[in-house]
Amino acid sequence: MARYTEAVCKLCRREGQKLFLKGERCYTDKCGVGRRAYAPGQHGQGRKKTSEYGLQLRAKQMTKRFYGVLESQFRGYYDMATRIEGKTGDNLLAVLESRLDNVVYRLGWGSSRAEARQLVVHGHFTINGKRVDIPSYLTKAGEVISIKESSRSSEKIKAVLEANASRPVPKWVELNRNTLEGKVLALPQREDIDLAVDETLIVELYSK
Ligand code: SF4
Repeated sequence: MARYTEAVCKLCRREGQKLFLKGERCYTDKCGVGRRAYAPGQHGQGRKKTSEYGLQLRAKQMTKRFYGVLESQFRGYYDMATRIEGKTGDNLLAVLESRLDNVVYRLGWGSSRAEARQLVVHGHFTINGKRVDIPSYLTKAGEVISIKESSRSSEKIKAVLEANASRPVPKWVELNRNTLEGKVLALPQREDIDLAVDETLIVELYSK
């Protein structure tokens, strides 16, 4: 699967906000946004003048990077969002949140979405009792995600659980830390999603 492999902190600095791409480091004073609060590159500290198109593009890029998806897939999610009743921007974010790698991350079973994605690919999770190793699988309300029995003794899984034990879980998912089961209660509303983006700019960009 194609993916972005350059220094990820540059992506946050480009967008001017934390995208939480590096796990534990994002919560420390080593975070690149905190240390160098300007865009990367030779002109990063120069005067900024952003056109309407530029704002729309940045909103789209930021959202893509936050969820770690590439352009064609992102466009597919947008098309899906247009076919759902309600506001397209809200629908787009809800669809992105429902990806299995994101839900695993939200449950605290990955320190970053990238780590959650890798753990999904390695087959550590089940949905309603069946192994699912597709990060882009779109979860639905009522589905139960569990850490596979045979994975619970893995040192990697134990370390991830310990590192993220105190991370809050959003209200649209339910976590049972004893049984290591998580349930999608409902797809999230816009106010449940902690991404500071104006999603209407993405809709404007794609509606041209
Ligand atoms: Fe982004 Fe995390 Fe790097 Fe901070 S540490 S710039 S939040 S990836």
